[in-house]
Amino acid sequence: MASITLKNIVKKYDDGFPAVNDVSIDIEDGEFVILVGPSGCGKSTLLRMIVGLEDITSGDLLIDGERVNEKAPRDRNLAMVFQNYALYPHLTVYENIAFPMRLTKGKFSDQEVDDRVRQAAHMLELTDHLERKPANLSGGQRQRVAMGRAIVRHANAFLFDEPLSNLDAKLRGQMRAEISQLQRSLNTTSVYVTHDQTEAMTLGDRVAVLKKGVLQQIASPRELYEQP
Ligand code: ADP
Ligand code: ADP
Repeated sequence: MASITLKNIVKKYDDGFPAVNDVSIDIEDGEFVILVGPSGCGKSTLLRMIVGLEDITSGDLLIDGERVNEKAPRDRNLAMVFQNYALYPHLTVYENIAFPMRLTKGKFSDQEVDDRVRQAAHMLELTDHLERKPANLSGGQRQRVAMGRAIVRHANAFLFDEPLSNLDAKLRGQMRAEISQLQRSLNTTSVYVTHDQTEAMTLGDRVAVLKKGVLQQIASPRELYEQP
């Protein structure tokens, strides 16, 4: 768990137009921040810069007070949950969840891997499905596997990129409740991109509103709701 600080973050792609323009946000340890705004406002770009998949043109990105602009994604230890789940079809649920730990060879003993996979599976009610392949899971279960993979890393923070947008309305409601509960029990710092109003107003401690790359406001759902 960690704080994430964005200081005057700017991103210019090749066309020179700022996709993210001078954004500053202090995300506290354990806080759940939602990024909202219309398509093309820079949400994904901001998320990708935080996780390290995109270079920052200018400004500072700090994790727990340490500048990480030049650090490789793996050294930032942030766990990204994508909307298309990014599961490996040929691996079981168990191995999909274990995958991030297998990548850092020798860092985790088989026992540690097993403990963490089972703990995550238990939290996500996947214990009975560990030997299945992703093709044999429901959309909600696949999304949980993706979250399991984020959980086992004991990451500094979770970064969600529209994780529920591929699910039908009913399942989306259910998963929203699960994510909310999970975040409370893990108390992990989270940044969550969505264009769904309900998710924005129910999941986060604070909502950051982006428009054309500029941070319009950042406030609690209640404050936003009560605005004239
Ligand atoms: P959002 O996630 O809010 O839909 P994006 O971060 O994807 O917004 O895009 C923000 C802006 O940056 C848009 O104008 C988009 O066209 C532009 N953009 C995004 N990715 C690239 C890229 N790889 N190269 C050039 N421009 C990009
Ligand atoms: P054993 O061969 O000792 O009876 P198992 O083959 O059931 O035990 O599992 C050995 C260990 O690997 C156990 O800790 C188990 O939890 C774990 N495990 C179970 N399924 C998988 C899997 N698909 N991939 C890797 N490890 C697994």
